[in-house]
Amino acid sequence: MNSLTVSTASATGNPRNKTALKPGRSLMDWIKLTNSSADLSGTGNKLKDISPDELAQHNNKNDAWLAIRGMVYNVTSYFEFHPGGEEELMRGVGIDATDLFDQVHKWVNYESMLKKCLVGRLKADSMLPPVKRLQSKPAIRKEFPTPPLSILSISAPSTGVVTTDWMQNSTSVTVILYTRQKGLDARQVSTSIDGKLFHIRIYSDNWLRCYDYQIHLVEAVEPSCKVTVSLTTGKVELLLRKIQTALHWHKLGDLEDVSQGFQPLSQAPLFFRRAVLTRKLRVNHNVFLFTLTFPTGQDFYVPVGWHVQLKLSLEDGSALIRSYTPIVFDLPSCKTTECPSKTEASTSLHFLIKIYSAGPFTSALDRLAEGNSSIEVSFPTGNFLESQLENKNVIAIAAGTGITPLVRIAIDILRNNRRVTLVFFNRTQEDIIWKEEFRELELKYPDKFKVWHVLSEPDEEWLGLRGRISKSILATTILGGDCPDDGSNFACVCGPSDFILETLRLLDSAGYTNETVHAFSG
Ligand code: NAD
Repeated sequence: MNSLTVSTASATGNPRNKTALKPGRSLMDWIKLTNSSADLSGTGNKLKDISPDELAQHNNKNDAWLAIRGMVYNVTSYFEFHPGGEEELMRGVGIDATDLFDQVHKWVNYESMLKKCLVGRLKADSMLPPVKRLQSKPAIRKEFPTPPLSILSISAPSTGVVTTDWMQNSTSVTVILYTRQKGLDARQVSTSIDGKLFHIRIYSDNWLRCYDYQIHLVEAVEPSCKVTVSLTTGKVELLLRKIQTALHWHKLGDLEDVSQGFQPLSQAPLFFRRAVLTRKLRVNHNVFLFTLTFPTGQDFYVPVGWHVQLKLSLEDGSALIRSYTPIVFDLPSCKTTECPSKTEASTSLHFLIKIYSAGPFTSALDRLAEGNSSIEVSFPTGNFLESQLENKNVIAIAAGTGITPLVRIAIDILRNNRRVTLVFFNRTQEDIIWKEEFRELELKYPDKFKVWHVLSEPDEEWLGLRGRISKSILATTILGGDCPDDGSNFACVCGPSDFILETLRLLDSAGYTNETVHAFSG
């Protein structure tokens, strides 16, 4: 039996760019190793203070330390377990890898993953060694040639990967990219416009690679872009609206080839689009549904099971970034008068967000009024392959707001006439998100959808299941008669990281494998 891996559980590498791990090097094997008596820190679990100089000396694969947020970890034994690959992990070794870690996958709970590797605290009172930066290739800037005749197309320099043309009339400018990516569809093209800066990202290879470039336009355009793609040739047309109509542009602008070819998504920089908070609805005592809307003509698609980063600019000039998974809005009993309509879906994203009073991001978000435009949304990121769900019934195991990535998956499966069993863990009844809506869904799909609620802090009146994730709860809910083990089940897991680790351990012993489980790490 294969053991389970969770693809985002890595220290500094790329969660989306999975490397094939050797047998015996799965997440489950790592958990077993951390639960053994092995001295992974190499210091007999005695914590010490480490100077940056000492950290810098542990800089090779056989003796590898790295620091994240002031704590130093010995990751020597973790190399072969690192889903992003050994080379990726090596980039953080011997240095303060906090920036590197945050750029790649800030949301991973490294403290839990690496707790047995903790060597001690990084002393902050001396000079830090130079921080290795993400290796970014030098950007190539090219200037588009001088003006085409109105309406006529003219060749512009090739970026090496795509060739480009542009044309204009009195009201619009069209940029044309010949990507040669057959089968490309418009959802795989993300754009953002910030003044005269026009950023374009094209995703390929199941969205796991992307091509980024920017055009520094000579004139300002409206903040919207209409994308048209030819499926057969991969030709992409991007229609921009001139602000100053009738102004003839003498050139398009400067092209900055950011990625120089399709690169793994992990190595791509974060690019953000500005959005407006158009709606905030209370879902329960501390969870709200936030709707963010982009300008008309800026459609935005996030693949199922993928997430975005939300960036919030604060009054003091600083910014906070957190990952969130957008959700669908059409659960059956959605109070229709209050709901954003389906037509908004292409230019709006909806997020279920729990407000933590001590959480700097969510408490700042909570203070924003509708109409506020200080939020930016990154281009989508993730590693979930929707194709894994083909012909599968889904077992969704969620805790708290961990329900968010599983909602869209559940709806898609039900619409495709397959079964979904949701086991939903919460603290109390009042914490359950969308309890009525899930009940409506059960009524709508009586043979296809079943939800089990499990409370860890129930009151006396609660008649349902109690406790945290355990073998007996899984036996009652998914491993019993409702979900026959006929090879058709695919399990999706999301919630706090310890919850995920425990669930994976239990699924592993129940015979689930890497091919039949995906964990959305918290
Ligand atoms: P919570 O603290 O209210 O806990 C909900 C339930 O989780 C509890 O009732 C319990 O059953 C279980 N649980 C909590 N801690 C546990 C532990 N240590 N071991 C076993 N079970 C445990 O949950 P919350 O505040 O809503 O947090 C949800 C988590 O889900 C967050 O950590 C968040 O980062 C994560 N999340 C991840 C994604 C993603 O896409 N990766 C999306 C949403 C939420």
